[in-house]
Amino acid sequence: MAEYKGVMIIAEIANDKLVNISGELLGCARKLATELGEDVSAVLIGDKVTDFAKDLIALGADKVYVVEDPQLKDYQTATYVTVIEKLVKENPPRILLMGQTAMGRDLSPRLAFRLGTTTTMDCIDLAISPDTKFLLMTKPVYGGNARAVFTSELSPQIATVRQKAMSPLPADPTRQGQVIQVTVAIDPSQIKTKYLGKVKEEVAGIKLEDAQIVVAGGRGIGGPDGFKQLEELAKMLKAAVGASRPPCDNNWVLATIQVGLTGKIVTPELYIAIGISGASQHLAGCSGAKTIVAINKDPEANIFKEARFGVVGDWKQVLPAFTAKVKELVAG
Ligand SMILES: Cc1cc2nc3c(=O)[nH]c(=O)nc-3n(C[C@H](O)[C@H](O)[C@H](O)COP(=O)(O)OP(=O)(O)OC[C@H]3O[C@@H](n4cnc5c(N)ncnc54)[C@H](O)[C@@H]3O)c2cc1C
Repeated sequence: MAEYKGVMIIAEIANDKLVNISGELLGCARKLATELGEDVSAVLIGDKVTDFAKDLIALGADKVYVVEDPQLKDYQTATYVTVIEKLVKENPPRILLMGQTAMGRDLSPRLAFRLGTTTTMDCIDLAISPDTKFLLMTKPVYGGNARAVFTSELSPQIATVRQKAMSPLPADPTRQGQVIQVTVAIDPSQIKTKYLGKVKEEVAGIKLEDAQIVVAGGRGIGGPDGFKQLEELAKMLKAAVGASRPPCDNNWVLATIQVGLTGKIVTPELYIAIGISGASQHLAGCSGAKTIVAINKDPEANIFKEARFGVVGDWKQVLPAFTAKVKELVAG
């Protein structure tokens, strides 16, 4: 195998668009590659995806490996792992980065196993060790209560990166790069799963993961009717509604809006936590928010330790006044 060199990212495409994480990975890869004095490559897999190569170059890639095949149109574990394994073995990167997305979570451990290396998942910071030149991978541990830094002496060094943890570079359409078409023979007999179709999650309003403001409710909301008031406020703030686990478990709201360790991870500018105690498993999903505002009737609630602003009181009294004020401000 050739020498392990450079930083490689796996780009993602969904609904015929480059997923934001691709730009975020490239922003981070550029920083690491500059420190190493090496280059950045991106892997683009799908059917008729070459057009996205120029976008990846504009966002920081020096080289884009394009693998196009109708069989690669939708993500499938067996085909994607096979393609990336071959590509990585032929062009071994020092560092291989993927998003902490459904695809990255599925791919990275399988690839690590096939390549005889390790992976560190859900990283929120990456740096190069000045002494060893190994990748230093920081990730939240113990349900978000602490952070640990991992490193591995095995190559390539693989990490998945949490969405919105890194910033993309501004796109520079004048950047020049190399686009390399790669053919990987896919043996259909090796594909043990059959792609039947995609069920698209219907989202009314703004998607939780993309929202700049999240209005989240917990057990303290007391039932589905209470969430209607949260929805009213969210609509005014152009926010998404989230929830802790109990409202989801009790079917007050859809399970798809659960925030936390076993739910979604959100990193909005503003997270308004209403009737949420602030258990570590919940905070694991929202502690990346820039500002947390908490409304809780218990002054000892743990959420106040995380919140920048807090109101101690019954949400049924606080929220109508808050919503009325927001309405007034929005009306200008
Ligand atoms: C393996 C594992 C994974 C988990 N994953 C998740 C996860 O992904 N997400 C998650 O959220 N939880 C998760 N949990 C559950 C977690 O431990 C907590 O039980 C849960 O977060 C508590 O939700 P809560 O804050 O809404 O409820 P509670 O802890 O019951 O808190 C309710 C809060 O509402 C306040 N309140 C009550 N009435 C009012 C009122 N009228 N006005 C204002 N405040 C009021 C109370 O003071 C209290 O602080 C997980 C647990 C385990 C073991």
